[in-house]
Amino acid sequence: MRILVVEDEVRLADALRRGLQAEGFAVDVANDGTTGLKLAKESPYDVIILDIMLPGINGFKLCALIREAEIWCPIMMLTAKDGELDEAEALDTGADDFLTKPFSFTVLLARIRALLRRSGTSRPTQLTVGDLTLDPASHGVFRGSTSIELTSREFSLLELLLRRKGEVLTKADIIEHVWDYDFEGDSNIVEVYVGYLRKKIDQPFGTKTIRTIRGAGYVIS
Ligand code: CA
Repeated sequence: MRILVVEDEVRLADALRRGLQAEGFAVDVANDGTTGLKLAKESPYDVIILDIMLPGINGFKLCALIREAEIWCPIMMLTAKDGELDEAEALDTGADDFLTKPFSFTVLLARIRALLRRSGTSRPTQLTVGDLTLDPASHGVFRGSTSIELTSREFSLLELLLRRKGEVLTKADIIEHVWDYDFEGDSNIVEVYVGYLRKKIDQPFGTKTIRTIRGAGYVIS
């Protein structure tokens, strides 16, 4: 899942990037509102995190502009002070949630998971197909009762396919949600990672969870 962080405090932005990447998210950071708007329009993010006090365009305005551009991904605003007015304005400009600084990273992650659940059509806390289960909160993946170890990129790819169960995802779709803006490699990387995943979630169990749709992409169903 791919996240855009718009935050001008460089140390906080870097900490968020590192923390979210360690959790398996692909993360892009913008340090001002103008860049944030440009990135939001260019890539289909799964969640956008917006600071309010930003150079260029402030967070409220940016949130409104993102919605004006008909981008409907979940938005979480970071409010600097514990002010009811800020929070009300955040929600009124089209944000889905807000978090008051300073916040705990654990709470931020839980809120992000809640936003990701809300954006899907179904809202399970665990994602499943057949007897394969992925738990976004604990990062656990199980086939029946057998635990499967995945790298963070493999986990992220499986999470995307499960969140879009039944939908054929092209390599471009997958790269947009699993890799960040700095990725400039070949889209064949997707094939490579689907191969890694199959070796872990399917081959040992004689199952075929991920189907290749020739010329189109991949689907879990
Ligand atoms: Ca700020």
